[in-house]
Amino acid sequence: MKKISLYIHIPFCKQKCMYCDFPSFCGKDTLMERYIDALIKEIKEKASKYYISTIFIGGGTPTYLHLNELEKLLNAVNTLNLSNNIEFTVECNPGTLTEEKLNLMKSKGVNRLSIGLQAYQEELLKRIGRIHSFEDFKENYLLARSVGFKNINVDLMFGLPNQKVEQWKETLEKVLLLQPEHISAYSLIVEEGTIFYKLYENDKLSLPSEDDEREMYRITLQVLKNRGYHQYEISNFSKQGKECRHNIVYWELEEYLGCGSAAASYIEGTRYKNFESIEDYIKAVEDDEKTFNEVIVNTKEDDMEEFVFMGLRKTQGISEEKFYKKFGIKIEKIYKTVINKHIAEGLLIKNGGKIYLSNKGIELSNYVMSDFILTL
Ligand code: SF4
Repeated sequence: MKKISLYIHIPFCKQKCMYCDFPSFCGKDTLMERYIDALIKEIKEKASKYYISTIFIGGGTPTYLHLNELEKLLNAVNTLNLSNNIEFTVECNPGTLTEEKLNLMKSKGVNRLSIGLQAYQEELLKRIGRIHSFEDFKENYLLARSVGFKNINVDLMFGLPNQKVEQWKETLEKVLLLQPEHISAYSLIVEEGTIFYKLYENDKLSLPSEDDEREMYRITLQVLKNRGYHQYEISNFSKQGKECRHNIVYWELEEYLGCGSAAASYIEGTRYKNFESIEDYIKAVEDDEKTFNEVIVNTKEDDMEEFVFMGLRKTQGISEEKFYKKFGIKIEKIYKTVINKHIAEGLLIKNGGKIYLSNKGIELSNYVMSDFILTL
């Protein structure tokens, strides 16, 4: 039986955050029950034939589901062929977590939680449209610990409107007091279609300067390193052995199956993306129609590019051996000029069979990666 990672999408949120361009919606709660039924049908049809090594239930806000819907979903997942040492993550948001939901998840085999906090300061949380305070987060976090969750990620964000470098430092310090196993720290990107994008266009969004943002990233690296977290990807840090295995699957271009609206899959060199509209998705599943409206058959060049793009996000970089095994050709044959150019610029390092970004290269990662495009 083939091994695969499973992503399950829950597209509901209590309120839309101002920066969010994820396929998530508020005000569609009446669709939840039908959605979960459709989702379970899709999961059973598509995932039963695989051996599941990691699961990530993300969104949206999975913990916004009602207890009985969450239970139905987790019961269905438990009928699949799950690996004995599965990594099973559920994304949670403070303000939607309860002791019952935590106990339920624990009893159904969830062994990793990813909790969205973003910032410590009340004013910043309000400004970005979060529904919770730091205290709400802390309460939920401690409750999760008391229920027995031993692997918790905290999502943070820097470069927020009007955020000061000191406030970012304070956020890191406050979170570190709780000793999570994993921290994701992303810089805010103002994406089209978000409330922030509108404000930005109207000159009403006061973002930190580029220097301040760079400083925030440097502080992240330094503070987390000092506290025993190792950076294994541009934005991800973990205690030893607590790297997110599910994300590594994406970054190493391995296969994954996505179920639910807007969920993406990558199977046998082909990318699929399900309908983004919750209604269209439900209807397709109920009518036994295909659930996806995007299919891209990757060429070998596409795969090589993606392998390099994703691989360079990891601090370990790309393994020359893995590249050869995957594509039957040495990476040097394809990318010699680009690799040498960036090594000469001090942005790439080649060492011990690996090619990875230097610290300077990480700061200029978009520039380096764009040079690896083969299919212009
Ligand atoms: S909770 Fe997450 S998915 Fe929902 S709107 Fe906020 S950022 Fe987006």
